Amino acid sequence: MIVIMKPNVNEAKQQQLIDWLRGMGIGIHISKGEFRTVLGLIGDTSKVDMELVASLDIVDSVQRVSETFKCCNRKFHPEDMVVEIGDVKAGGGNFAMIAGPCSVESEEQIVSIAKAVKASGADMLRGGAFKPRTSPYDFQGLGASGLELLRIARQETGLPIVTEIMTVTDLPLFEDVDVLQVGARNMQNFDLLKELGHLDKPILLKRGLANTLKELLMSAEYIMASGNEKVILAERGIRTFSDYLRNTLDLAAVPMLKELTHLPVIVDPSHATGIARIVPPMALAATAAGADGLIIEVHNDPPHALCDGAQSLRPEEYDALAKKVRAVREVIK
Ligand code: PEP
Ligand code: MN
Repeated sequence: MIVIMKPNVNEAKQQQLIDWLRGMGIGIHISKGEFRTVLGLIGDTSKVDMELVASLDIVDSVQRVSETFKCCNRKFHPEDMVVEIGDVKAGGGNFAMIAGPCSVESEEQIVSIAKAVKASGADMLRGGAFKPRTSPYDFQGLGASGLELLRIARQETGLPIVTEIMTVTDLPLFEDVDVLQVGARNMQNFDLLKELGHLDKPILLKRGLANTLKELLMSAEYIMASGNEKVILAERGIRTFSDYLRNTLDLAAVPMLKELTHLPVIVDPSHATGIARIVPPMALAATAAGADGLIIEVHNDPPHALCDGAQSLRPEEYDALAKKVRAVREVIK
């Protein structure tokens, strides 16, 4: 249930209402907009007399929210959420460009890629240290030493780092990571999501390989219900009957999600397509579709990459794409 307050209401009266609702065991999510405040009621609202609340002179209207996701529901929070990562912002008209290799391989590799993508205008550096590989015989990432190399690249370039966490027990290693990525395979690792909800750190939540938008939102809800509102969603392609592509990029998910939630929505055209030459057109399409950013794999030597070389752009290809992305952004402004 949401209670939409009248513009510029008396604070004390509003607080009285909040206290009364809390007294009934109801959680209140307060969203202060420029002109009016929206109270999102979480919990068993069946005992709340909607008509009584609606009749209060400080209340504009009361609506039942039928969706099971509440904290990430745009009805609870009509204005776009802006997630801040240092000086970088995602959402609310701020476009975040995240780029870097699938996996961190060496200091030279990650630092040179970080410098290249920064020069092309990237806002954040990605790179996996713990890799969820389909085969146990494939490169599993450098682990903790990979995180150390990411820190070096951050120090060299000033770019915040985005890297995947696979398990709760690794959390202490990620203390100074700027954005924790939850990979597609872990989107419904609810224990992990609940733990991440206790952090005060942005979480990049990727859509699962075969998950619906509602399931993605419910996973965001797990993080937010535990207290961490800094969630960025990523559409990264889903399993369909696509044969020549790694996945199917569900671009319509972008405007749909942005209608349903106030969270920023970014697109990963690398994992969605699996083919480097298909990445630029899909990145531009995602930008045109209203995405709040892009996460793109870039490698200095794709044929020799230890992971996902086929879908990795070379730094010069990323540079050309970044220019076109900026041009598309100008057009859709
Ligand atoms: C990745 O970003 O390298 C990755 C493993 O992505 P996903 O979880 O979307 O497959
Ligand atoms: Mn990858």
